[in-house]
This record gives sequence, C-alpha cells and structure tokens, in this order.
Amino acid sequence: MSIMEWENDSEIQIFREYLRIPTVHPNIDYTACVEFLKRQAASIGLPVDVVYPVNDANPVVVMKWLGKQPELPSIVLNSHTDVVPVFPDMWTHEPFSADMDDEGRIYARGAQDMKCVGTQYLAAVRALKASGYQPKRTVYLTFVPDEEVGGVLGMLELVKQDYFKSLNVGFSFDEAITSEDEAYSIYYGERTLWHLKFKISGTAGHGSLLLPNTAGVKLQYILNKMMEFGASQIKILEQNSNMDVGDVTTVNLTKLSGGVQSNVVPPLLELVFDIRIAITVDLAAFEQQIRDWCEEAGGGIELEFERKNPFIAPTKIDASNPFWVAYKKTLDDLGLKTRIQVCPGATDSRFIRQLGVPALGFSPINRTPILIHDHDEFLRADTYLEGIQIFKKLISAVANV
Ligand code: ZN
Repeated sequence: MSIMEWENDSEIQIFREYLRIPTVHPNIDYTACVEFLKRQAASIGLPVDVVYPVNDANPVVVMKWLGKQPELPSIVLNSHTDVVPVFPDMWTHEPFSADMDDEGRIYARGAQDMKCVGTQYLAAVRALKASGYQPKRTVYLTFVPDEEVGGVLGMLELVKQDYFKSLNVGFSFDEAITSEDEAYSIYYGERTLWHLKFKISGTAGHGSLLLPNTAGVKLQYILNKMMEFGASQIKILEQNSNMDVGDVTTVNLTKLSGGVQSNVVPPLLELVFDIRIAITVDLAAFEQQIRDWCEEAGGGIELEFERKNPFIAPTKIDASNPFWVAYKKTLDDLGLKTRIQVCPGATDSRFIRQLGVPALGFSPINRTPILIHDHDEFLRADTYLEGIQIFKKLISAVANV
C-alpha cells in the first residue's frame, strides 16, 4: 500500500485518532478517551458500560459482543488506555500528533504500548461482525486505566468487583512486547516482583575507631551475596541461548541510604533491591536464603518488604488448556513464528491469572524496533493492518472454543 492509501484507510485513521488523545501520566484526564471508545462501540453496534473500580477519574470501558452461547465462560480482549510520559525534546515528531512518514511509520506515544492493540481488537470485531459472524462465546473488550503505574486504580480493583464476576471470564487476551525479528512474543506468565529493603543495624561510634560489627561491614556482606546471586543468573543466561531474562531471577540495587556525618559510624544503613523472581523458584526457600545471609552477616538486619507479590501460576500451555490449543493452532496455521515467554516485567494479566483464569499476552508487532516507553515510539501502518488480520483469526478461534 502507498502512503495515500494508508492515509485514507479508515482503520489507520481510527488508530491515529486514538493516539492523538493524550492519556499520558501523571493525572490523566480520560474524558476524551471514553468518548472516543463510546463512539467506536456505537459504530460497531456494541453495548458499552463505563465502570469506575476506584474513583471517577479512572474509568474502565467495557464493550460486549454477545455470543450464541452466552452461558459459556466469556473471552476478554483487554488493553490499557494510559501511556507513559514523554520527553518531547527527544522526539523527532510531536508525540501526540500521530504523524506518518513516507514509509508509513506512525509516530506516537502508545503506538506500540498498547493503543495499537486496543484499536486492532475493535477493527477485528468490526470486520467479523460486518461479515455476519457471531462467536460462540460472548466477547468483552475491556479498556482499563492506570496499568503503567501498577493497575491499582484499574485492573487490580476491577477483578475484585461483582461487575467483573458477572462477566464470567474464561480466557483473556492482553499485551506482550514488540519483537525486532520475525517471531512474535507470547507471554504466558510473569515473574514475581519483590521490592525488598534491608535495614542494617550495627555498632555506632567515632569514625576514628575500629569498631566490630558495623552496619558497613554487614552491608558489604549482603551486597556481595545479592550481587553474586545476580551474576549467577547472568551466567545461566549466557549458557542457555534458548532462555531470556524472563526465565531467570533479576536482582538490582535501586536505593542505598544512611549515615549522618562523615566522622560518625552510623547505627543504620539501608539497601533496597528490585527483585524479579523466576516462576521456577520456590519463594519460601528463596526468602530463607536471604534471611540466612542476614544472620551470616552478623544479624541485626531487619527485612522490610515494600512490595511482596505472591506467586501467580502461569497460564497452562499444553493440551489441558483448550484456549491455548486453539490459540497456538491459529498462529501456526497462519505460518507465524512465535516465542513463548515469561514476561520479564508486569502486565494486567497477573490480576486475571490470580483468579485462576488463563491469560496470554500478545501484541502483533514483529520486525520493529522495541520503542516501548522510549523516544520516537512508532508502528508501521502495514504492521498495524496485518495485526488486525491476525486478531480476526485469533479472536474468532478462541471465542469458538
Ligand atoms: Zn503496556
């Protein structure tokens, strides 16, 4: 297709219109976004609810496509409506203008993460519905806020509510990551996130002395153990080319604080680590290992979990999960290469999986630089349109399970 054809394509126009709504953190005003989505629902002929799990400023838009057997568990097509901040000076195109260049690259914050997927779902449903197709299962399109800052005002609360239970969800679609090569990434699980603070107490006193059991000495021990552990995970990755970062545990020192004056040995020093634990790790044993290191360091170390997410079982990717079977078969039949992965970060899928509902993350973006959360985020128009075709097959197959 040429640039003119893309410019005039109604689906490309809808995508660019969505990108131009600046639902950017912080303090997002979702009013225009909700109006846009309501217009989309009306144009397709889908009833729409707007619900507010936490407060009026954070709406969830839910569209319903009624299935032939609405008593069966439903399918959710989830996407988040918020996007992360931009550094406009670092962009070659205005981040909320959705400019298209001569090669069909559409530049905007959210072009990859994940407004593309939101309007691709809409486009796929629009096309399927227009062709006279009706799915066996009811399909819901959910557009949620707040994902980029943890989903606390969005999916986290939504899934707890009677409204969500009334949807009787059997399977959920959500996002994955852009792929630079031909293979598309599919996420079936997520690592477990801990933010762990070590409050390290020790002998205080004058900086001129040789004091025993100082906080500094204990800190050195803990820091070494944690860093050595991190290095061991890097080695695992180096030795296994089929593994990626989602398959190992990452340990990163993110904060270091303490001390009052240069000649005073402090009674307390603090370390904070961001830890993402692989799904194969026994969490209780891992925590015990850390506590053992604290004792070996000399004791007097208090652990404070600023965040301690529970283990959430990954979605089954075998014959026991009929949604997976239909999902994978569809992508295979289309001749698409896939990479089945554990998400190294976090998405709203974890709140769905926590309910025991299977969820897979997939963004139909391949052969594209990973510019999620980066400057000059873009998606090519042809990649976007191919994604709609993929979703048409995928949604109809999964909704007919
Ligand atoms: Zn995202």
